Amino acid sequence: MSSRKIDTIVIGSGISGLTVAGLLAKNGRRVVIVERNRKPGGALRRFTRDGIPFDIGFHYTGGLGRGQILDVLWRYLGVRPEITPVPMHPDGYDYFRFRASGTEVRAYYSYERAGEQMCAVFPDEAAGIARYLGTIKNICGKIPFYDLDLPLSPFLRDFFSSQDRPLPEAIASMVKNPELQAVLAAPAFLYGVPPAKAGLTMHAAVAHSYYQGAWGIRGGGQAVVDGFLKTLTGHGVEILTGQGVEKIEVGNGCINGVTLADRRRIPAGQVIYTGHPAHLPDLVTPGSFRPAFTHRIKGLEDTISMFTVFGRMNRPAALPALDRANLYCINRGFDLMADPAAVGNGSVLLTAPGRRDLNAFDDDRRSGDGVILMRPANWSETARFSRENSRTRGAGYREWKTAATKNLIERAAAGFGEGCLGIEPLAAGSPLTFRDELGSPAGGIYGVQHNLQQFVARARTKVQGLYLSGQGSLMTGLLGASMAGLVTAGEIMGLEETWDKVRKWQ
Ligand SMILES: Cc1cc2nc3c(=O)[nH]c(=O)nc-3n(C[C@H](O)[C@H](O)[C@H](O)COP(=O)(O)OP(=O)(O)OC[C@H]3O[C@@H](n4cnc5c(N)ncnc54)[C@H](O)[C@@H]3O)c2cc1C
Repeated sequence: MSSRKIDTIVIGSGISGLTVAGLLAKNGRRVVIVERNRKPGGALRRFTRDGIPFDIGFHYTGGLGRGQILDVLWRYLGVRPEITPVPMHPDGYDYFRFRASGTEVRAYYSYERAGEQMCAVFPDEAAGIARYLGTIKNICGKIPFYDLDLPLSPFLRDFFSSQDRPLPEAIASMVKNPELQAVLAAPAFLYGVPPAKAGLTMHAAVAHSYYQGAWGIRGGGQAVVDGFLKTLTGHGVEILTGQGVEKIEVGNGCINGVTLADRRRIPAGQVIYTGHPAHLPDLVTPGSFRPAFTHRIKGLEDTISMFTVFGRMNRPAALPALDRANLYCINRGFDLMADPAAVGNGSVLLTAPGRRDLNAFDDDRRSGDGVILMRPANWSETARFSRENSRTRGAGYREWKTAATKNLIERAAAGFGEGCLGIEPLAAGSPLTFRDELGSPAGGIYGVQHNLQQFVARARTKVQGLYLSGQGSLMTGLLGASMAGLVTAGEIMGLEETWDKVRKWQ
């Protein structure tokens, strides 16, 4: 490590950590990132099975249109030239199919086309559909990440304190058809909160970015990570991997530095923690937080988990829609993420980002063979195996995974047709896998939940020099975690000054 004094240690190299590190380093701070995993990137990492690359946690995002927030932020950071967004097919980005009726609805990356499609399928609900879309647009017209002319501070103050409206109540007041209600609630899959617990504002904040545009990225989430690594190295950021932070040292209410697993100490005056917020109290010197805060933050509920099968599509022609879009088979109403053990035919999602994006690039045929199946999963399904070490997990867990894999493929076949039976499983991810890979206590795929009952932990903590960012701390997904990184950098360098630098950068 270079001998220059370190200003800031960033714990975690997911997109929130990479973003905050990039912003601080570009503005002259000396930053070190410490990552527990062997490879940087957090949920955006890729892995390969049988020559097919799979993303752990990225399929598509909003915010990448010219002048939209990720495009602007990545241009400011110098990352944008390294990344090639792939616009979703003009036929739509998500196809929703209802198991019971066979009704199909397409989600389009434009308010107008989304509205037209929903009105074509549910003509009696035209007024309610217009009201819903108008409501989402109206809420997001006040969010600076979507209107870059707005200041950041008033939004952050209100976002954390406002009394939100329950999502089911809001949707049910606008449309009555239970299938349409499910379609309007379906963006909840992108922030991982069961609709029954979700609030309208968080829903709007996520849904709007997709109604405004949806993109894959050439090379998946890993391409974003690689783009960042190149730029960060140019700014002198050091990244230590394969070594977790065991202790965040606090003395007299101020940060002193961190201790790594190998007992090495790194002194610094600022630490940004981007892992799951619930783990923070166990990392800091005991007594650093008030007992009430410790209790609240440790009790933060995770977003939903998923059981995921990564496979090879041996009969791709049997599922031609996967060439263009993500396929969702769902039930009517608001039980999209209902307990899979209780609801035998819960939601199933099929996506083949490599194949979908091959429409734009013809250079990696093998990635076109990959397919990912997902269904909501509960921690309770794998809790009994959780004490076993990830390397020594025994035959019981393997048997459970094999049965769950078979069940998911059959469930997909029931929803999308016999073509799914041609899927050859190559790997599977359970709530346990996500807990181990991402460090979320119950395998939540987006970190902490933003639900109506749960408080939102702010970026600035009571310990001077200690900040939070990421794993759902502000918002979820690639876009939400990037915004968390931006806000945390703003807390250190001045919120509006940082925001101005980014949004006025051309
Ligand atoms: C299955 C799945 C599908 C998804 N699909 C999409 C999608 O299509 N679109 C989208 O926008 N988003 C998607 N997401 C969500 C998106 O990937 C995440 O919201 C985002 O990447 C989170 O970034 P982050 O930086 O907040 O957290 P992470 O990426 O989880 O990074 C946190 C990092 O901190 C490290 N860490 C934690 N504690 C320590 C410690 N003590 N010492 C050192 N390191 C530590 C962890 O190892 C990890 O690398 C998906 C996620 C999953 C899991």
